[in-house]
Amino acid sequence: MERSITDDAESYVRSLLDAWLAPNPGECLACYLDRVLERYDCDGDLRFAAHYRDLVAPRATQLERRLEASGGYCDCEVLGNAVQPAWHLWSTSRELELDGRTIVLEAEPPEGMPPCAGVRRGSTQPCVHWHRMRRPRVPYR
Ligand SMILES: [Zn+2]
Ligand SMILES: [Zn+2]
Repeated sequence: MERSITDDAESYVRSLLDAWLAPNPGECLACYLDRVLERYDCDGDLRFAAHYRDLVAPRATQLERRLEASGGYCDCEVLGNAVQPAWHLWSTSRELELDGRTIVLEAEPPEGMPPCAGVRRGSTQPCVHWHRMRRPRVPYR
């Protein structure tokens, strides 16, 4: 059977999408989610995290449970609740004198994340640019 142009276009788009959704070599889960969520909206579930697991760490079958235990009930919540940009990326807090009063400017999170520092293949840990917010109740593998 001949393939139609529409089929070809569809598979082309799908292959582009696959390339976008493929984790880079050594890229950690947190940097992966950060990168993917810049382009795609969170769907209110852990589909990107699960996609990462399927491709990179298929043995981490507890990943979703572990992320939920850390407050990450969907992909974007993982980045807000389960992990946070590491302190070395935040601007330092500053004290200003204004009319004799001291005003403290709180430290600000980075606007963008640096390239992933890399993790061992098969790991679902974040790289050094992130730290975990809450200790999950499900043990890490
Ligand atoms: Zn979300
Ligand atoms: Zn990373």
